Amino acid sequence: MAKRCYYEILEVERTASADELKKSYRRLAMRFHPDRNPDDPAAEEQFKEAKEAFEVLADAQKRAAYDQFGHAGVNSGAGGGGGAGFGGGAGFADIFGEVFGDIFGGGGGRSRAYRGADLQYHLKITLEEAVRGTTVEIQIPTSKACETCSGTGAKPGTGRKTCGTCQGVGVVRVQQGFFSIQQTCPACHGLGEIIEDPCGTCRGAGQVETQKTLSIKIPPGVDSGDRIRHSGEGAPGEQGGPAGDLYVLIEVKPHPIFKRNDADLLCDMPISFVAAALGGEIEVPTLDGRVALKIPAETQTGKVFRLRGKGVQPVRGGSPGDLLVSVHVETPVKLTSEQHELLKAFERSLSGEQGGDIAARHRPREHSWLDSVKRFFDDLRGD
Ligand SMILES: [Zn+2]
Ligand SMILES: [Zn+2]
Repeated sequence: MAKRCYYEILEVERTASADELKKSYRRLAMRFHPDRNPDDPAAEEQFKEAKEAFEVLADAQKRAAYDQFGHAGVNSGAGGGGGAGFGGGAGFADIFGEVFGDIFGGGGGRSRAYRGADLQYHLKITLEEAVRGTTVEIQIPTSKACETCSGTGAKPGTGRKTCGTCQGVGVVRVQQGFFSIQQTCPACHGLGEIIEDPCGTCRGAGQVETQKTLSIKIPPGVDSGDRIRHSGEGAPGEQGGPAGDLYVLIEVKPHPIFKRNDADLLCDMPISFVAAALGGEIEVPTLDGRVALKIPAETQTGKVFRLRGKGVQPVRGGSPGDLLVSVHVETPVKLTSEQHELLKAFERSLSGEQGGDIAARHRPREHSWLDSVKRFFDDLRGD
């Protein structure tokens, strides 16, 4: 909802004196005061509106700003309300700086220096590069002075003439409702003069686009989302302003073996059911090559082994992470008939044992699962 005009809210003329403002405000405040209008949100809203309008218009400086720039002159908060950005707030200062900066800018220089834009470069690297660090060369767009016109933007042999749109002042007045607002001249961008005959190579810009190669050093331990700043490597500034910065945004590509969780590395490791049952030594991959890992007998799927310090040394310092190896017992496939027989014989050997309950003895998970199922049905019957 658009903010109402402060004068309209206070029901006074734009020329109202301080006394008239005060009187009118007092009258409205009495009428809409929450104590007199309990549980009336509309009245409360009007009360607040009048209070805000009065606070601005009662202050000569704020009133002047409001008269010239409207709500934008006194309130930085988008959409207003809340009263957050009042008076000496940023919005006020900014508006003044911007507009008066244009008009009264130092030493008759109508031009303004603009800092160039920051650029972001999306860089994909492998997990190994992220962990160990690397240097990559990237091509980034940049501009350089046009050789044809030596950066002036004017066709060689021609010059500049006074801007016809702003008559050389660099600003123009724009009517917006009741307000007349000063803006940087769109034709000459505040310079006050325009190029008579633009250079054909750069179309008057004075600069041409080119590419430059930058060597980017990636420190060890970076992760996806990290940004590396190269100050001054962003877009060039205008009118002598400083260049922006270049941010290199890191994205680590997925790795076929390892997943990363901060400083830790995770990997899934299939193991044979015989190794799982009897225990033994398996080889696991690390970023520095293979290492031997002892697994105990009766290892179950999902068991996680922690190899301390085999993770990532974080870029911001701290101790290196661990490698977490999660083992998965693999069911053997493509068995020969002889192997089939051996497994059947194995199963028979289990059921031939004294004491009956195979699950209780040899299959701890199945046993506890069956137990839970039994308790579940017992509970149902109990109700
Ligand atoms: Zn102009
Ligand atoms: Zn040129």
